[in-house]
Parts: sequence; C-alpha cells; structure tokens
Amino acid sequence: MPSLRQPIRAIDFHAHLLIPEVYAVTAPHSLVALPLDTAAPQTEEVREINAKRRREMDHQASDVTERIELMDKMGVAIQVLTCSLVHQATDMLALEESVRLERLKNDRMSAIVKSNPRRFIGLGGVPLQEPKLAIAELERCVGELGLAGVQISTFYAGRELGHADLHPFWARVEQLGARVYIHPSGNRDARFRRHFQWNSIGQSFEEAMAIGSLMYEGVLDKCPGLNITISHGGGYMPFNFARFTRNWLEKPATRVNMKAPPAEFLKRLTYDSCVYDAGLLERLVEIVGEDRVVLGSDYPVGDHNPLAMIEACGLSAEVKDKIVWRNAARVLGLDAGRMGGASG
Ligand SMILES: [Zn+2]
Repeated sequence: MPSLRQPIRAIDFHAHLLIPEVYAVTAPHSLVALPLDTAAPQTEEVREINAKRRREMDHQASDVTERIELMDKMGVAIQVLTCSLVHQATDMLALEESVRLERLKNDRMSAIVKSNPRRFIGLGGVPLQEPKLAIAELERCVGELGLAGVQISTFYAGRELGHADLHPFWARVEQLGARVYIHPSGNRDARFRRHFQWNSIGQSFEEAMAIGSLMYEGVLDKCPGLNITISHGGGYMPFNFARFTRNWLEKPATRVNMKAPPAEFLKRLTYDSCVYDAGLLERLVEIVGEDRVVLGSDYPVGDHNPLAMIEACGLSAEVKDKIVWRNAARVLGLDAGRMGGASG
C-alpha cells in the first residue's frame, strides 16, 4: 500500500473547482438545475439530505485550505484544477456574458495556482462557441495567466469538437503546446434525465462522441502534436473501438479524413483513471497503452480514495507508477525536481 503514497507524488488530473461568483450566475442555467424525471417523488428527508450533500460539495469544490487537507489524506501531491462544467458551463449564456465569466474563472484559477504552485496546476476555460474569442482566451490562459492549458466540453453551439470551424482553435492549441482536458458539461437531452442517466450514461456517451469527432474529422491527423486528456477513461470509446475499426475497414466513406485506424488514434490521446473498477482500468491500459493513463479522482464528487483502485489493479509496480504520476508529469511537462519536492 504505502509504495504508491511514499513519497507523495500522485498527480490528480481530474479535480474540480467552483468559483462562487461564476456559479451564482451559471447555476440556474446548469444541467443540475433541470427538473429531473425521478422514479419516485422525493420526500422532505431525502431533499434535505441532498441539499446538505450539495452544500458540502460546493464548499469542498470552492475552498482551498480544506482541499489541501483532503489531498494529503488522499495521498495526492498535485491537483490539476478545472472548473466543473456541469455547474459552470457558460456557452448557453449570451456571448458577452460567457466571455466575461470565462475570463473571471481564469483570473481566479490563476490566482489560486499562483498562491500554491507546489500543489496546484490550472487549466482554464474558453468560449468555444465563438472560436476566435476562444483562441484569444486560450492565449491569455497559457500566456499572462500561467495556466497549463484549457478544459473544454464536448459540444458547442451545434458543433462537435472536430467541426471545421474549430480547426483553427486546434491548430493554435498545438502551436502553443497547450494541454487540453475534455470533460462534458452534460447531455441535456430528455432521454438522459431519468435516474441521473445524464451522468451514468450521458457523460460516457459525450466522451465517445468527442473522440469520434476528433478522429473522423481529421483533427488528430492535421494536428499530431495535440496533448489531449479525456475524462472518465474516455467514456465508451476505448471499450468500443472495435466497432470503429470494423467501420473503418468496411465503410470507406467513414475514413476519408483518417489516415490511421481508430486503434492507433486512441494511443495518441491520454485518459484519466476515473472508471470506478480495477478490471476496467486494466483493460483501458491494455487498449490505449501504459503511457496513456493518468490518475483522476473527480474531486470532490468522485472517488475519494483513487489510489486504492490503482493499488488493487493487477498491473506492474512500474505501470502503476506511470498512472499515479509519471504519465501526468510528462503530459504537463513537470521536471523531476518539482516532483521530488512535491510532498508537504
Ligand atoms: Zn468531473
């Protein structure tokens, strides 16, 4: 057990931040505010329990001091911070307001990272519904704000991530060497609403769509240097790539923009370990490669002991070490000196 925790080097790539001023505006428009098609009417008691849990989560997501204490308990040296898009997506707001809030998020994120650079790395946000403005904010994030890159969702203003209108964005990301973390803001289709299926099914669906679009529309061919990490183990895609391979072989029209088979594209992306099952994680490593999986807890809502699942895996100590920190350190360009002194 202690082997993965001593010295503390773990890098948690999936850790959310809540900016209260932003959430105050986005909350009524967010997916969590949509009426849920629940199986049974909630009792007052259940409503109270949920509200209490919500308040705790909101506090843990916005407070920095308690976060560091929890990171120490979890054995996490560094969190890669992102604003949770399920709560703080801005693309449904008027463009001017969306830009204002993305900038506000990024300013706050930058201040938090600068206040504790040994424990936090930040990924900013961009108004990707308007690609030119997204490029400008991307440049500000990795330039003056000192962030490592940006987080984006899976669908903007009717466009999938591989849409031709977004190719200039991807080209600029590649040019700047910025990291991109893809994490869905949530599918709002009514079909996914019952029993929180927007979460259990919809998030994995969105991640698969995002990867499919980047492959099919040629983004991964045009920009081979992209440094993209996908949340929740890439959703269904790594576990379903054989269907893509079959179509790649049997339906030539699907591969007009693809120079390589789907299995090869999968190995150009990175995935976080947030799949909630040791056997699935082992299979993910087998499919995408041992250099392509990074630790992800989905703080504060996900796995509160993310190292335990890595420890439970039937993978070698060397591969576990890669998942816990070495792969993320490479993706983030961290030097050995920083990692050696990350504990404390
Ligand atoms: Zn998350």
